[in-house]
Amino acid sequence: MRTRLLSLFSLLLCFALSSFPPVYAQDGSDKPPTGMTIHVVQRGETLFRIAQRYGTTVEDLVRLNGIRNPAALAVGQRLLVPSPPVPEQVSIGIPTQYTLQFGDTLFKLAAAFGTTEAAIAQRNYITNPRQMYIGQRIVLQEGSESAQGIKTGWIHRVQHGETLYHIAARYSTSANLIRLVNRLRRADLLYVGQPLIVPSDENGVPLTDLPVPLARFEMTPAEQGRTSALRIVTLQPTRLEITFMGKSVTVFSDESQTLHTALIGVQALAEPNIYPLRMVAALTNGAQRTFEWRVYVADGGYRSEAITLSARQLDLLNPAITQPEEERVRQAVSAITPRRYFSGLMGLPCAAPVTSPFGTRRSYNGGALNTIHAGTDFAALPGAAVYAPAAGVVVLAETLTVRGNAIIIDHGWGIFTGYWHLETLNVRPGALVQAGDVIGTVGSSGRSTGPHLHWELFVQGVQVDPLQWTRQSFP
Ligand SMILES: [Zn+2]
Repeated sequence: MRTRLLSLFSLLLCFALSSFPPVYAQDGSDKPPTGMTIHVVQRGETLFRIAQRYGTTVEDLVRLNGIRNPAALAVGQRLLVPSPPVPEQVSIGIPTQYTLQFGDTLFKLAAAFGTTEAAIAQRNYITNPRQMYIGQRIVLQEGSESAQGIKTGWIHRVQHGETLYHIAARYSTSANLIRLVNRLRRADLLYVGQPLIVPSDENGVPLTDLPVPLARFEMTPAEQGRTSALRIVTLQPTRLEITFMGKSVTVFSDESQTLHTALIGVQALAEPNIYPLRMVAALTNGAQRTFEWRVYVADGGYRSEAITLSARQLDLLNPAITQPEEERVRQAVSAITPRRYFSGLMGLPCAAPVTSPFGTRRSYNGGALNTIHAGTDFAALPGAAVYAPAAGVVVLAETLTVRGNAIIIDHGWGIFTGYWHLETLNVRPGALVQAGDVIGTVGSSGRSTGPHLHWELFVQGVQVDPLQWTRQSFP
């Protein structure tokens, strides 16, 4: 089966290799010598990065360009660099007919041509596969939907250590499109020297199935009161601005400005519905592109409860008392630290059962269900240790009226955790804590009916279910 697949593939390739590579006119007085090209230095580029990009070394660039001080590159400076190897351009012949050979089965044909046994059988009126014969002309389906209409491409031979994503990035196309056109059933099974067709338009410009500059866009499900992660890969350095549900979301980009991550906290009281996600992509050449997607926010499945408070307890709901404290907490969790302290799963802050989950809708003394339980309660004995669930920096450790003895930890990237009603505070603001460090002990201080730990998690200011972070790690 393997051999059969390969020979079908080489057949495809022979088809493909029969056209001529395009000829590009190169006029102008500053034409670089043969095998060389001109690179114009962009903002933020170093000789190291340029060398990497063209598959050469810093030493060679220094020598070629007579550079005296490699650290002092000027934006706009023109550098002579070795031309990247020019790939062959081919026309892609997607066969529409095939003559049956010895040993062919519907299963093998379906695998080789990226279709299903049923589709081939239907198209060729095959009711009994046992009656197929050598030399039978089989009509095949056109290529898969996204690969349709692609007539030309480049042949790329897989290099050692390359993945489909590397190749896609190199040609500014998408890995998925290369997979489709080459009918790769397993994107992770590439071998060195394997010829791959990189689809392009007639002018040799590689195609992508996402709008430029996007190469990948992945979003985990958005749900009331939960955290959703957004991972975006761009084909060139890009600055992204995202707005979701009317709120601006800070995006964190890697050094190359091509891998972008955003964590979105969905309000627990948001109505399940379709909401627009707007993204503005600013390219380094000053061009801007705006995208809008529709994102479904699903129901979080929360329950509701009615709470009766005494006159004295009700007095603690008085805005005159709660407002300044709300402000204090809001201000403490509003910073967005670019340094990321958290990684992997969060630990539990307390070795005790959960008595009240996050998100329960609450009505006080018969009022409307317009508030939620904004954290997770653990029923622990007074004095039980409270642990930092992840690394971070303590930004608040003080006594508040409603929350009692409270601690807030900044985990970076706009992620904060809060611990209320503590008995003792074992840390001070500014302290760097690691996952598992004891930060305080369980108590019943502030507006509390008995000893318990109330644990909160904020994502860029929005309170979400903290337990999700103990079950799911975020990029
Ligand atoms: Zn609570």
